[in-house]
Amino acid sequence: MSRTTYRGRFAPSPTGKLHFGSLVAAVGSFLDARHHQGEWLVRIEDLDRTREVPGSAAEILSSLEAFALHWDGEVIYQSRRTERYAEVVEQLLAADLAYPCSCSRKEIRERAQIGPEGPIYPGTCRSGKKPGIATNSIRLVTQDRDILVEDRLQGMFRQNPGTEIGDFVIRRMDGYHAYQLAVVVDDAWQKITDVVRGADLLSSTPRQCYLQQLLGLEQPNYLHLPLAVDQSGRKLSKQDRDRPVEPKDPLNSLLSVLAFLQQPLPPEQPESPEALWQWAIPRWRTESLRSASSSGL
Ligand code: GLU
Repeated sequence: MSRTTYRGRFAPSPTGKLHFGSLVAAVGSFLDARHHQGEWLVRIEDLDRTREVPGSAAEILSSLEAFALHWDGEVIYQSRRTERYAEVVEQLLAADLAYPCSCSRKEIRERAQIGPEGPIYPGTCRSGKKPGIATNSIRLVTQDRDILVEDRLQGMFRQNPGTEIGDFVIRRMDGYHAYQLAVVVDDAWQKITDVVRGADLLSSTPRQCYLQQLLGLEQPNYLHLPLAVDQSGRKLSKQDRDRPVEPKDPLNSLLSVLAFLQQPLPPEQPESPEALWQWAIPRWRTESLRSASSSGL
């Protein structure tokens, strides 16, 4: 696979309007891609239909247009990719790298130790699920070994999925495929070379790299952007982070995102979002992001 062309992406879940935190991810991934003369794709991660807010995918896309965050190619919808995810799950099952699990959440809570990411699945169904229970999830077999991720901003991140996460779900009890699986399948399928997203997903990355290793896929570069914090350096509350941005006043929101990301601001208010991008793309500096997490809005 050729790595000559940079391909980045923004992958929002349609669970509501575009908010400040997601606009940071959109702008960061867009600027990094355009600065490298790369492509920038948009993928709607609408796997979990129970969490989807009807109409929000269309709303997110029209906000991106209002912000002049113009994407390349067609928008991909994960809800239309079920067959491909199912094939990969079958492949992992056939290779004994995954297994059906019939444990309820309650059973897991009762038996599991709590790790940094929640209960560590104790491997109950590894040697066969309990008979007589019709529904099951599918879990991936993890191994007791460190996975290292060299993040372009955060440096080396290390996690042992075997001891810190446990065998994790790749297809849920209700039949939906899990984010960790779909993101790996789609990043590879879309030939993404650089994943730029919020630092809340850093701890998911080793699971994704582990899956890439099992599936023989190339690992993209990762850059996890600082999470939005308030003036006193505290992580923005969910309420603030989730406050929708106003696509009717795009410049205001975009300038706050650039300020948050510690990027230079134009000396005069640009005429349009397009003009702002023309100014900002050549000036994008990932080194400046280092001070962003402690700087506030
Ligand atoms: N869909 C995820 C979210 O909205 C982002 C996934 C990713 O960038 O890998 O939080």
